[in-house]
Amino acid sequence: MSDAIDHSIAWDALTERAKEARASAYAPYSDYRVGAALLAEDGRVFVGANVENASYGLCQCAERSAIGAAITAGARRFRAIAIVTGGTTPATPCGMCRQVLAEFPPSFPVRCTSIDGGVIESDTASLLPHGFGPGVLAGGRG
Ligand SMILES: [Zn+2]
Repeated sequence: MSDAIDHSIAWDALTERAKEARASAYAPYSDYRVGAALLAEDGRVFVGANVENASYGLCQCAERSAIGAAITAGARRFRAIAIVTGGTTPATPCGMCRQVLAEFPPSFPVRCTSIDGGVIESDTASLLPHGFGPGVLAGGRG
């Protein structure tokens, strides 16, 4: 994990927004509720919660809910994301979310907090080393 976390981010406030979003999670199957708060470059914050489905493969994570809200509102560049999960051990984004977050370079910091206070700090580039991204497409056409 990176120690290059951006301390100019108002992490406590962003984490509180993620915690509030977590309260809206739809998680009737796992009861594993997650909230995310995504800080856009222009200062707007977009929140998301996980949305489960009886057809389990259709579940959507909080991070992707937040990204969807941001994209819908026209945001494309991000400064940070805070993620809040339950329990004592914070969870980092799943592989699918790492790929989705990496779609929006440059890399930005990720702060994962458990409701009981554990913290993991990283950034989107570190979470997906050697990832497939827009640059790969641009360099491999033809
Ligand atoms: Zn995910």
